[in-house]
Amino acid sequence: MSVNRLIGRIAIVTASTDGIGFAIAQRLAREGAKVIISSRKAKNVEEATQKLTKEGLNVTGLVCHVGKSEDREKLFKEASNLGGLDILVSNAAVNPEVGGVLDCSESSWDKIFEINVKCSFLLAKEALPLLRKSKAGRIIFISSIAGFQPIEVLGAYSISKTALLGLVKTAALQLAPENITVNGVSPGLVATKFSRAITDNPAASEASLAQIPIGRFAKPDDISGSVAFLASDDGAYVTGENIVVAGGMASRL
Ligand code: NAP
Repeated sequence: MSVNRLIGRIAIVTASTDGIGFAIAQRLAREGAKVIISSRKAKNVEEATQKLTKEGLNVTGLVCHVGKSEDREKLFKEASNLGGLDILVSNAAVNPEVGGVLDCSESSWDKIFEINVKCSFLLAKEALPLLRKSKAGRIIFISSIAGFQPIEVLGAYSISKTALLGLVKTAALQLAPENITVNGVSPGLVATKFSRAITDNPAASEASLAQIPIGRFAKPDDISGSVAFLASDDGAYVTGENIVVAGGMASRL
């Protein structure tokens, strides 16, 4: 990666010790940003931090369960110690239950909306004091193709991701006058732990691949470049958009 668009920027990427979040953290750091990586488990944070540091990248690792306000506070304190915050990537999401939306238990519904929607909103709100001091403030929410085209067995999760599309548009309107951009990136099916039930199951995998014109699942690195673009000066005039990175899957809302 020879692009150096993010030198001098400080970024927080949540849920970034594995999968798409890890690839985003790595890409932002490869482009020159100082990146604070985090997730719930100390061991994962340690391993991911070591891996990126070994590559010569400027990263700091912290434990942060996005549902815990004291953990989120630590993230912003760390950013402040590093010199501020330019880029927030809200990537954490859960899906505790597989099934149609009207079969979803109340507890799973609450968990899905708490982590996927409410914590994304809270992170953005809590990041604002620091982002307002940046010359190039960016908020990027990781949504999903399921937010555009619901996946039946990911019923409540799909709705939570549609809510993020609205959060992007609404927050973008509010923050545009302050020169802070707010955008979303919606991955298609990416081969990570999150999607193993599909990618590791031959029948489900075949049925899913039939929906993907490019004919393969995405790799986490297929997603990270769009995030880096939005975070960089190249994305300075883009706000309120949701970029779909889904190999041509249908994405009309
Ligand atoms: P993943 O590979 O399962 O990675 C999950 C990461 O999140 C790990 O680092 C995990 O570490 C951390 N994590 C989980 N819960 C957390 C929490 N409450 N607070 C903080 N960190 C947490 O997942 P992924 O596939 O990369 O998904 C990342 C994002 O992309 C999600 O928003 C997902 O909805 C979206 N997405 C994924 C796909 C796909 O096909 N994979 C498609 C569209 C959208 P710990 O266990 O240490 O916390």
